[in-house]
Amino acid sequence: MNIALWLSRSGLSHPALPALASGTHVVATYGDLAGRAARLAGALREQFKLAPGERVAVVAKNTPAYLELLYGIWHAGLAAVPANAKLHGAELGYILENSGARVCFVSEGLDAEIAPHAPTSLERMIVIGGVGYEALFAADPIAAVPRTGDDFAWLFYTSGTTGRPKGAMLTHRNLAAASFAYAMEVDPIAPGDAIVHAAPMSHGSGLYIMAHVARLGVQVVPESGGFEPEEIFGLFDAWPRASMFAAPTMIKRLVACPNDCRVENIRTLIWGGAPMYVEDALAALDRFGPRLAQIYGQGEAPMTITTLSKQDIADRAHPRWRERLASAGRPYASVEVTIADAQDLPLPAGAMGEILCRGDVVMPGYWQNAEASRAALRSGWLHTGDVGAFDTEGYLHLKDRSKDLIISGGSNIYPREVEEVLLMHPQVREVSVIGRPDREWGELVVAYVVGDASPAALDALCLERIARFKRPKDYVFVGALPKNNYGKILKTELRAADAKRAENMGIPG
Ligand code: AMP
Repeated sequence: MNIALWLSRSGLSHPALPALASGTHVVATYGDLAGRAARLAGALREQFKLAPGERVAVVAKNTPAYLELLYGIWHAGLAAVPANAKLHGAELGYILENSGARVCFVSEGLDAEIAPHAPTSLERMIVIGGVGYEALFAADPIAAVPRTGDDFAWLFYTSGTTGRPKGAMLTHRNLAAASFAYAMEVDPIAPGDAIVHAAPMSHGSGLYIMAHVARLGVQVVPESGGFEPEEIFGLFDAWPRASMFAAPTMIKRLVACPNDCRVENIRTLIWGGAPMYVEDALAALDRFGPRLAQIYGQGEAPMTITTLSKQDIADRAHPRWRERLASAGRPYASVEVTIADAQDLPLPAGAMGEILCRGDVVMPGYWQNAEASRAALRSGWLHTGDVGAFDTEGYLHLKDRSKDLIISGGSNIYPREVEEVLLMHPQVREVSVIGRPDREWGELVVAYVVGDASPAALDALCLERIARFKRPKDYVFVGALPKNNYGKILKTELRAADAKRAENMGIPG
């Protein structure tokens, strides 16, 4: 089934209900939005002669237009290629070329950035909100082009913390399965409930659009087009029962922002996409109360591998509450998740291995990359590349990726464990622990710290809580850590910068 039908139906049954807001102002009802999507679909099929299955790129900051674009593309039987507007022109050029999109919708200003990198396959770049754009909505509306669950609707380019991004093909079935899982287990939605899109709509936040369309929610796009804590608090005041997906760094910034917004207006703050340290989760819980949920997923199984529920996060009375808070929760009802060894054989609870996942939410493969698809999906399971272990109660504990593991003097050291301890110091705002090559030890533990604690105080904290050999041998104080556009810390970049620093300082490697 074409997932665009969810909007057509909402438009038919509840044309006057608000569907979309820019900040605090409603800008479209369900009737408006469904009508515009059907017209845009008409233009894409009739004027641009795009055939079902062709890709249409959207390179845009968060904007209310995202909705009509996604739904217009799907309604026309096409696949959307949402790309993060913060990527470099060359990276966007790569995505445009790789996807083979002939048409690209861009935010104003981005067209100039992309132009020097535009591949020859790209025939049209249309500036969102420009004259040519508005003219498309004069086309005659068409009926939704039928699609099966196996047709892909969204080419989701992985964030590429390692290597070039790959386009995970997300089918209509995958998107429906992710939406059902969200609405059933993370955040039930009633008509009129709001979702605030402050994280990129090309990524995590965008994947929560469909469930809210099906359930007649209101999509709220901040006027700043992004994440400004003060503005977000204003939106929580204005929109009762508002939810928001956020990277852990965003939650941290909300916690740090003095504001007395009515937290009872918040339905759910969902964090995911990167690890949240226990100290940060506790601070968020103190500030927002029982309104936090966590999801663990990846582009290949969008947002849907495990989830830590609001109840688990807030259940301070539970004897293993803190351990659970440090976990990524339990598998969603709709997926199977297992931990496997290097031969793909399942491991028992407590044993660490690669996290594998299968179910309706898992992509059928990467776009035009049979080799990477075979490797990722071998033996019928999605190989996440993430390392973890289940505890005996079925909660998944994520460990550092194997390439981030530090081996010092023959002992394995998991950076996350050291980071959790360093973050307990009140003057440490952010931290990332890496291994520095060393002739004697193989690797040395090095902590990059944002904050102004003394090395002696940090050492003392470590000695109180973890084995001596895990203690950092060097603390480097920095103003900021390298992060990608989704707020994930780039350890590869940090290691490279550290190697340069060590070389400049004459530290033998
Ligand atoms: P992406 O495909 O860009 O969304 O990146 C997915 C990756 O982010 C996963 O494979 C994990 O390594 C990481 N990730 C996602 N959710 C979480 C989470 N809740 N906790 C820790 N890491 C996460």
